This record gives sequence, C-alpha cells and structure tokens, in this order.
Amino acid sequence: MKRVDPEPVPQRRSTRPVIDPPRERTFVGIPVSPGIAIGPVFGTSEPKAEITRFRIHAADIAAEGARLEAAIAQSRKQLGKLRGRLTVLPEESQSEIAPLIDAYIRMIGPSRLIRGVKRRIEETLLSAENAVATEAEAIAAAIVATSDAGKTAEDKASLRRQADEVREIGRRLVRNLTHAPFRSFAGLPDGAILFSEALRPADAALLDPSRLAGVATEEGGTDGHTAVMLRALGVPAVLGAAGVAHAVKPGDIVVVDGGAGTVVLNPSAITLTAARRAVTAFARERQRFARLRRMPAETEDRHIIELQANFELPIELPQIAQSGAVGIGLLRTEFLFMNRETVPDEDTQAETYRTVVEAMNGDPVTIRVLDWGGEKEIEALSAAGIVPDVADTNPALGMRGIRLLLRRPELFETQLAAILRAAATGPVRVLLPMVTNVAEVREAREIYERVARRLRRRGERLPDRLPPLGIMIETPGAALSADALALEADFFSIGTNDLTAYTLAVDRGESDVAELYDPLHPSVLRLIQFATEAALRMRKPVSVCGEMGGNPMLTPLLMGLGLRSFSMNASAVPRVKQVVRSVGIDDCARFARRVMEQSDPAVIRAMVAGFGKPGG
Ligand code: PEP
Ligand code: MG
Repeated sequence: MKRVDPEPVPQRRSTRPVIDPPRERTFVGIPVSPGIAIGPVFGTSEPKAEITRFRIHAADIAAEGARLEAAIAQSRKQLGKLRGRLTVLPEESQSEIAPLIDAYIRMIGPSRLIRGVKRRIEETLLSAENAVATEAEAIAAAIVATSDAGKTAEDKASLRRQADEVREIGRRLVRNLTHAPFRSFAGLPDGAILFSEALRPADAALLDPSRLAGVATEEGGTDGHTAVMLRALGVPAVLGAAGVAHAVKPGDIVVVDGGAGTVVLNPSAITLTAARRAVTAFARERQRFARLRRMPAETEDRHIIELQANFELPIELPQIAQSGAVGIGLLRTEFLFMNRETVPDEDTQAETYRTVVEAMNGDPVTIRVLDWGGEKEIEALSAAGIVPDVADTNPALGMRGIRLLLRRPELFETQLAAILRAAATGPVRVLLPMVTNVAEVREAREIYERVARRLRRRGERLPDRLPPLGIMIETPGAALSADALALEADFFSIGTNDLTAYTLAVDRGESDVAELYDPLHPSVLRLIQFATEAALRMRKPVSVCGEMGGNPMLTPLLMGLGLRSFSMNASAVPRVKQVVRSVGIDDCARFARRVMEQSDPAVIRAMVAGFGKPGG
C-alpha cells in the first residue's frame, strides 16, 4: 500500500511583531559617590525661568526695590525650610550640607551681591530679575577669572564652587521674582534613579536618601558641591556621563555603579544578577564598616594598633574623618606644588597645613616634605629653575626627595617654616623622603633647627619641643643602615612602594615588568623586618605607610614582624581594622616566623592568603 504522507500542516505565523529586547548600553562618567543602584529612571528637568521685564522707569525704582525685598524674604524662607529638613539626615550628612546652605543664606543678607543688584536697579534702571541675573553672573565670572594665575588645582576647584554658589543664589532669586516653579521631586517613586542634565547642590539637599536609589547626570565633577552632598547623603552617583540623560526614558531600568563610574541602560539578565549581588555585598559591608568606625583597633589579646590615613589631596579630608583613622600618617605635600606655575610661599603652605591639622582635631599629622623626582613631575619647580627642564636619564636614581631639598635649602626652609607654624595648632611630625644615609638626616636636622630659631626670633608661636623629625625607610640602603639611622631620626615610616621597587630594581609604573614587582619577595620582607627591629631596639616609633600598610591580607604578617602602626588610604581603614580585631599578636608572630623561613614568594603568597583559614 502506498503510503500517503499527510499534508504538511501550515505553520501558523504569529501576527505579533517580534520585538528584540533593548540592547544593553554602558555610559561612563565620573564616580563621585560609591554604591550600586538598580532601579527605574526618574527624569526631572527644571522649567526655565524666563526674564521678560528688562528695564523699569525711574518712577518705579522704589516698587522694584520692594519686589526684590519680597523675593529675598521668600528665598530666605525656602532656605530656612531646606535647612530645617536636614535634621532628618544622618549627622555626618548634616554637618557637610548645613554650611553650604548657611553660605546661601548669608549671600542674601547685606552681601556684595545684594548691594550690586540694588545699585543696578537704582543707577541703570534694570528690572530686579535682570539686575540679579547680571550681577550674579558678573561676580561669578570675576571669581573664576581670579583662578587663572598661580593657583593650585584645589584652589581653582574651590573658586569654581564659590562661583557656582553665587550663580545658584541668583537663580533662586530670579525664580522667585518671575514666579517660575522650582524643580520638584514630589513624584519621585521609591527606589528610583534620578537622571538629569545637571543637579544643583540645593537640589541635592532636597533629595531623600531613604527613597532615592541613585543619581546620574551629564554635567558635574568630583570636586563640586553636588558631589560632596551626594557622598554625604550616601547616594550612589555618577556625574558627568555624557549623553546619559538624553538616552533614557522614564521607567527604563538602569544600573548605576557609583564606585566604578558606570551607568548601564537596559541591563542584561547577567548584568542584573551581578548588580544585585553587588548591592547586597555593598550594603552589608557599609553596615559592618559603620559599626567598626567607632570601635578601637585592638587585637583579640588587647594590643592597640595605630591606624592612620594617607593624605594626597584636601578633598579626601571628609573621607579621612569618617574612616575611623586616628590621624594622618603620611601627608604627601606634592599636591601643593602641582598644577601651578609658581612655587607656593610660606604663608600659602602654612595655611594649608594648618587647615589639615585643625581638621584632625588633636590627632597627629605626619607631614612629609616635598618628594620631587622619580615619576613625580612638578612644572612649577622647572619653571622656577629649581629642577632641570630635562629629566635625569635615570630619574628614580637621581635628584629625588631629600637630595633635592638639601641642594636647594631655600625650598626646604620655606616648607619647614610653614610646617612649624602649623604645629602651633596641633600635633605634627615632619617626615623626610628618600633618605639613604645618616649625613642627610644630620644636615636636615641642622636646617630644621635653624629655621625654628629664625621663626622664634620673628616672634612666631612654636611648640616648646620641636615636632619629631623622622625618615622614610624606602631604599634598601636606608633599611640596611636602619640601626645607624635610628640614632639620628625620631621615627621611621616604611615606604614599601619604593622599597619594593628599589630592592627588586623594578619600576613602580612599568607595566612590562609589573609581575616582578612583588612586596612579598623575601628580600623586601627581610628589609622591613631589619628596619622594624632596629627601630624597636632604639625605642623609636615605626610604621608602614606604603600600599602594604593598607592591604588587610598583609596585616597579620606585618604585625608579626613587630609593626603596630599603619598608614593607608582612608578607604582601607575599616578593612584593616576588621583584621586587627580578629587576630592575636602571638599567632601573628608565629605566622611571621614561618613566613620568614620561606624563600619562594609564591609560597609566601599562598601562606598569606591562607592565614586564619583551616590548615593555613
Ligand atoms: C612609598 O614609597 O611607599 C611611599 C609611601 O611614598 P610614595 O608612594 O609617595 O613614593
Ligand atoms: Mg616613596
């Protein structure tokens, strides 16, 4: 029988169009406030405040003045309300945001701005809103113009912030004069992510961190007030992500990573799963660290370990204050000399050191004098003819650190004088970089004492006992002559970054030989041990301020070698403290003895990774 194949059943075609899932897109911006947020987009824009009245008649001057006074009163009321709202925020957030709002309130008092506005109304017959807009812009432009010459990057950032404050208060007055509505966050759904072209500090102060998941903007940067506020509020935020606000629609799902500076639009299932894990991990870590901040850095067997912060830029001060660090163990002063055309004078330096010392509220600050050379280029020094334009053929082995300062004592003396003046406001220590022999320390101390005598003659208030003068142990030469150096220096700070580089002859920044850069090489560990023991024998304080000091994996080993003081990036303090609180000194010492018997860095690395684990 012939088999008849059944008629093929026509496949029913779906009439629904096939919609590809939207493609994942990543935008990169400036990471300003760490944390990960996943949520729907909420976009806000502020309706423009249009100025339609430009001029007035002479007969209307008094009425225009009254309009201005009414707008000032209304602005003052709004700012007062804003300030009152701050009480619902955590204490740290309040203390950062309140001074800014107070500055706004001061600006609508008898200020240069308001005087200028009144003059423009009376003398040039401008309408109040036109007078405010013109005067605020003129003042802001004048402030920014002063930032051109001879200012550090930090000074410039601070001037830009001042100019923004003036513009901001001008906009508020214009809005109140023209009855333009303010941006509203009333419709912000719980857990949403705020997208905007720009976000002003006063807007940031209106945000409710318990409802808002994150922020992403197209404008703004790390050093602005908005960034400071978002950090203070603890809201994950990426600013300055070009194109981001225009690419999203309300309700789109996005992932904002405020630590990495990325915004992922339409995240894939894989991205979402990873982000959810990261959110949980971050929240747990933050809770743990907040608890740790107030706890002492004390081992299980009650030994107190000193944990301090390294300071690179003034912008780090709030983070240092919140990290639980007890003082600054290494203030690198290079920032003061960078991004400017002239060398900072004694007063400028003294003012900066004083600000830091005062901010540390009685906790010690170790100020390292200028460490020029190596990979640290400073234009102002070449412009002033202090260092040659053309780099040494081998800069890491050339005129670096203390060598340059002894060769150019005027540079050294100015800095020492500034540090000594700051020492009148709180405990300070002076640290010399790149020392290799005792003669350098003796010569530096002579200059130090000479500067102190000169300042006293000048009538400056100095502490009765001069601040301790210590040295970096960051060359093999210094480490191996640590016993002799301990007779000359008041304290040691072990700079493991350079110590590793010079010991292994590996450039710190050279990627081709990066795998040879190994602080766990037995030779580096032996030098650390030798220098530490020399200091302890002479009862001189010794600490580690290189990157090893902030690596929690290495804390037990370093404690086992006899170290009790570490200085690190502020963000590392809670992690290191956590380790300190979970170990006993005797276990660390036993562990260090076993490590120091090893000759293979790979074995040492495995031992370090296994410390405290079963079989470790
Ligand atoms: C070091 O070398 O370890 C150190 C702390 O100094 P810097 O990194 O500033 O050279
Ligand atoms: Mg160094």
